[in-house]
Formats: sequence, structure tokens, C-alpha cells
Amino acid sequence: KEKDASQPEFLQAVEEVLNSVSLIFDQHPEYEKMAILERLTEPERIIQFKVPWMDDQGQMHVNRGYRVQYSSVLGPYKGGLRFHPSVTLGMMKFLAFEQIFKNALTTLPIGGGKGGSDFDPKGKSDQEVMRFCQSFMIELSKHIGPDVDVPAGDMGVGAREIGYLYGQYRRLKGVSERGVLTGKGIGYGGSLARKEATGYGLIYFVLEMMRTHQLDPQGKRAIVSGSGNVAIYAAEKAMQNGIQVIAMSDSRGYIVDDQLDLNVVKKIKEQLRTSLSAYPEMAGHGEYHEGSVYDAGLKAELTLPCATQNEINKVRAGRLLDQGCLLVAEGANMPNNNEAIALYHEKGILFAPGKASNAGGVATSALEMSQNSMRLAWTFEEVDDKLRGIMRSIHEQCQAAMNQYQLDPKDYVTAANIAGVQKVIDGMIAMGDY
Ligand code: NDP
Repeated sequence: KEKDASQPEFLQAVEEVLNSVSLIFDQHPEYEKMAILERLTEPERIIQFKVPWMDDQGQMHVNRGYRVQYSSVLGPYKGGLRFHPSVTLGMMKFLAFEQIFKNALTTLPIGGGKGGSDFDPKGKSDQEVMRFCQSFMIELSKHIGPDVDVPAGDMGVGAREIGYLYGQYRRLKGVSERGVLTGKGIGYGGSLARKEATGYGLIYFVLEMMRTHQLDPQGKRAIVSGSGNVAIYAAEKAMQNGIQVIAMSDSRGYIVDDQLDLNVVKKIKEQLRTSLSAYPEMAGHGEYHEGSVYDAGLKAELTLPCATQNEINKVRAGRLLDQGCLLVAEGANMPNNNEAIALYHEKGILFAPGKASNAGGVATSALEMSQNSMRLAWTFEEVDDKLRGIMRSIHEQCQAAMNQYQLDPKDYVTAANIAGVQKVIDGMIAMGDY
């Protein structure tokens, strides 16, 4: 704690995991002598580098790049790249730490990593983004490879950025190593359904939870925060299953609409790359307000936070509960702080932690790696079927941990942490002093 005092998100993520896995440690006193806790929490390698780039006016800028290669116990490091001005080393470490256990839950052979930069792609031209990505890859290319470390997208890194990064990697290495990045375009080695995977996977997990706890999705109202990659496809799959999405948001405000038109949201965010304030005029209905959707006091049974970390604190969680919320499932990484999560438990509502419910994205990235290795491409339906199977299996692993440790059948946090962490510990011990 002292060494990492300046990294609050990292400490928050570690605390959340360690609180729930004390049950494992109680059953295994030998883990103390083996320093399992220290081996779990210390990253294998951290790479930090300078990213100089030139804007369209000829002005040079310097950003900071990171790659945290946290754990390769279960396979090559795998995890996204985030380009956002708020990126710090502590944030990269929190995301990479979460990624290890999320990846373990997918049951696919991938370790955990994360990277990114404090570069802000917002408001930059395509050429500026390209020059930044090329400079970023000059350094990153020294540390990644299809069997070593396979980055993907995250906030601020979509198909455009992955394309520029991949192009630069190929030029530098002079080889066609398709499996070095995932989230690629369909025309050059990407997987169908990868774009939809995190959002769709979230809803597959939610449907499993609702089925298990006898909740009917039909006609339930949902707040989906964010309007990026995860939020859009979570909203799409929710609507396909009879859930009514009544609100979505972005970093400046939120829209409320009983007849939410997702095509308009897609146009605003995927094509125009602008603010949701344009929604009411473009859709011809709905309202736009500045501020957080979680301060609006909207009535909804489901809450699907899909924007960013720490969006929901205890006060906002209390407001959601007052408005009839029955289930919160995380599409984003750590959108609820630990006090909000404690309140959900206290009030007995269903809560799905991101490492279980948003694992569909990385799982489908691993399916992209498989397709790249085999040099073939599965259909959308094949990938979507596999994704559904993986989300179901994550739910089953949570249930198995609940049974084994006699947990509350609503305690998905402890269950997911136990299931993920135990796999990594077993791998570390099997490989000696890993
Ligand atoms: P995007 O960049 O596509 O979208 C992010 C969304 O969050 C945007 O709508 C953005 O608004 C909004 N946002 C950003 N900052 C804030 C803020 N401070 N307050 C409110 N809203 C904000 O990212 P993704 O959809 O890819 O990722 C969203 C979350 O899901 C992240 O936590 C990410 O780590 C997690 N995740 C993503 C996966 C993936 O496959 N993409 C996989 C697993 C987890 P604006 O449009 O104004 O920028």
C-alpha cells in the first residue's frame, strides 16, 4: 500500500479482489510462506515510454505511453490500449490487474496486461491520430508479439486506431503477424462480432443472472451509461431481448427517451464523433441534459454502466435503489466504487462485476487470435455462439464457486474473484516460483 500510495484506482482494484479471496487464503495457510499475495499483486514488467508526434500545424507534442505486462501465467499478456487524457500508470495497473482474472474466467489461454497513453484522440484529425499511433508503435513493437503480448482496443482506441497501429507494426517488422493485435478491421484479419462482443456478452451474462433469479427481462427499463463501443452494443442486445433502454450518456451529458433510437446514437458516436446533445434534433424526440445520468433520478429496474471507472458512488447507488433498481451489471471496468458495491450487497440486489460480465470482449479477441493462427474466418453466428457459450460458462463458474464456498447466491463479486484468482494461483504454483 505504501509503495503504491499514489495509485488510488490500483489500490481500489486490489482491495476489491483481496477482500473476496480471503476465503481461499483461509483454506490454504501454506500460501503465506509461498508469498502468493505478493506474487499476485506485483506486475511482471512495466514499460513506460515517450511518444513524440507532430500536429497538423507542425507543432511537436510529447505524450507518455505505457504497457503493463502483469501476468503471463495463463498465456501471452492480453488486454486493451486506452488513449485518454486521464491515463496514468496507476490506472494502467488497475486495468491490467483486473484483466488477469477476467481473462482467467474466459478459460482461454491468455495472461493479463493493459496499456495506453494520456493522448486524447478527441478533436484530432485522422492524420494526427495516425502520426501518434505510428510513434506509439515504434516503441511498443519492441515488446509485443502474437505469442508474447497481444494488445487490443479500449477507450479512445477503436478500429481506426487499431488499423494505424497494426499498419505501423507490419512496416516495422516486415511480416504479416496478424495475431499481434486484435480488434482489427474485417478486411485485414479482424473477427466478425468483435465490435459487438463486450456489449452483447454483458447482456448474455445479465440474461443468465435474470433466468437464475427468476426475473423476466421483458419490459424492464434500463439505464445504459456511455455511448461508446460497449454501451451501444449492450443497448442493442438489451433491446433485442425486450428490455427498454430509456437513457444513455457521454462524458458531457445524457439523453432520456422512451423510444430511444440507437441508429441515431450510432451515427452521432461512430460517424460524426460528436456529443449526444445533437440527439433530440436528429431523432426528433427525447431530451438531452448536461451532467451525469446517475444524478437524474430516473426510474429503471436495470443499470448497465458502460462508460468509465468510478461513475457510481454510494450516493448515486442509493438513488438507483430508491428508483427501483433490481440489477446492476458492469460493462465498463470498475464503474462502481467499493462503497456502492457494498450497498448493493446490503440491500440484496443483483450485482455483476465487470471482470465477469464484460469479459466477452477479451474472449472474442482470443477467438480472433485463434482465427488468425488458423488462417480462417468464422461467420458472425459462429463467433456469437461461442461468445454466448463463454458468457454462460463464466456464469456457471460463478455458481460453482458460490456452491463450493457456500456463498450468498447473489454474491457474484466474491464468486468471480475466487474462480479467477484460484486459476492463476494454481498456474503459478505449478510453474514453480512464477
Ligand atoms: P469508448 O471510448 O468507445 O466509449 C467510452 C464512453 O464513455 C463514451 O461514450 C465516453 O463519452 C464516455 N465517457 C468517457 N469518460 C466519461 C466520464 N468521465 N463520464 C461519463 N462518461 C464518460 O470506450 P469503450 O466503450 O470501449 O469502453 C468503455 C468501458 O468499457 C471502459 O471502462 C473500458 O475499459 C471497458 N471495457 C471495454 C471493452 C471493449 O471491448 N471495448 C472490453 C471490456 C471493458 P464521449 O463520447 O463523450 O467520449
